[in-house]
Amino acid sequence: MQLKLPGMVSTALDQPLTGKTSVGARAFCGFQDCFSRLRSMDPVRIAVVGAGVVGLSTAMCVSKLVPRCSITIISDKSSPDTTSDVAAGMLIPHVYPNTPIPTLKQWFQETFDHLFAIANSAEAGDAGVHLVSGWQIFQSIPAEEVPFWADVVLGFRKMTKAELKKFPQHVFGHAFTTLKCESPAYLPWLEKRLKGSGVLILTRRIGDLWELHPSFDVVVNCSGLGSRQLAQDSEMFPVRGQVLNVRAPWVKHFIRDGSGLTYIYPGTSNVILGGTRQQGDWNLSPDAEISRGIFSRCCALEPSLQGACDIREKVGLRPFRRAGVRLQIEFLAQDGRRLPVVHHYGHGSGGISVHWGTALEAARLVSECVQAPRTPTPKSNL
Ligand SMILES: Cc1cc2nc3c(=O)[nH]c(=O)nc-3n(C[C@H](O)[C@H](O)[C@H](O)COP(=O)(O)OP(=O)(O)OC[C@H]3O[C@@H](n4cnc5c(N)ncnc54)[C@H](O)[C@@H]3O)c2cc1C
Repeated sequence: MQLKLPGMVSTALDQPLTGKTSVGARAFCGFQDCFSRLRSMDPVRIAVVGAGVVGLSTAMCVSKLVPRCSITIISDKSSPDTTSDVAAGMLIPHVYPNTPIPTLKQWFQETFDHLFAIANSAEAGDAGVHLVSGWQIFQSIPAEEVPFWADVVLGFRKMTKAELKKFPQHVFGHAFTTLKCESPAYLPWLEKRLKGSGVLILTRRIGDLWELHPSFDVVVNCSGLGSRQLAQDSEMFPVRGQVLNVRAPWVKHFIRDGSGLTYIYPGTSNVILGGTRQQGDWNLSPDAEISRGIFSRCCALEPSLQGACDIREKVGLRPFRRAGVRLQIEFLAQDGRRLPVVHHYGHGSGGISVHWGTALEAARLVSECVQAPRTPTPKSNL
């Protein structure tokens, strides 16, 4: 297979996209060799592997931050068939291992600001981004009564007694307004904008990142759970989530049990009812008994849901990483040739909530590769 990319002048593109990789050849290396071309006047050829929310937003941030580059997104699945498409899309961050709270808060704030601007624009409908108000409720008072993200969302306050009367099993709650980012609209919206700015999107499964050498100068790995194989990262594992997508247009407020296991998230045309968190479960088929359980738990919180119709089941595998999100430069090497890879994956339960913030960070790492400091230290959170 040969790839022809728009605006490319490099003869390297005429070479077939093949290559043999031996796992043992992976190594962290100096930057010198791989930057001889990156410092030339040719546009830098960047491949982004993955077309979920992480891949598409990374491509967008790279296109804004890195001058004179051509970007190709390569993925075996795209919207509506990615994990991101199953996400409820609520902006409520999850804590990641090894990630300091200030960093996590910055990722969340950047994502919130980015999506809030979209929600306030005429693009909001097409992008599937809107404000939503509601309650997070607890059966006992949580250790952290005011979460770290309280001043990022809008109008955060403790629930009043009158509000809590709606939930007789719960004693405490948060009321706030946040954003909902609906991937089945947001991803095609991002794709359209990327294509409009000259980004090429290819459907293809990558067996090994080295395949992308020498057709690309820098690779960004946004393959989510696929990184278990592509980056040989045994820290990656699935946390299965099953949800119901129902029609209940009278439900306008979100309700989230503080455990995060039961939730009711109204969107533009449907309401998402959840959920499950099944660690290590790879099964993508819906389980009817689990669906009945979700429905009855949600009806216990919002009895009017008994009247919901058009119930559809969805399953997604959250891309969890034991060591937290991986944002790191790695140099693959083989026979004296090198390929810089920026890893950007492992967003688990909260990828939509932080995607723009981590994409900006990934784009800065790409920029670091391209601008070629001569002897930088690769960042590691392994
Ligand atoms: C039920 C459920 C509810 C959720 N709710 C929320 C929520 O309310 N808020 C929130 O913030 N998060 C939520 N999430 C989490 C969120 O969905 C994820 O964190 C996020 O989608 C991860 O995005 P990603 O782009 O890394 O992965 P993905 O969407 O899985 O994308 C990975 C991409 O990589 C490609 N790929 C993988 N391997 C290869 C390969 N070898 N070759 C080529 N391409 C490859 C895939 O085809 C795909 O395009 C939820 C998840 C689930 C399952």
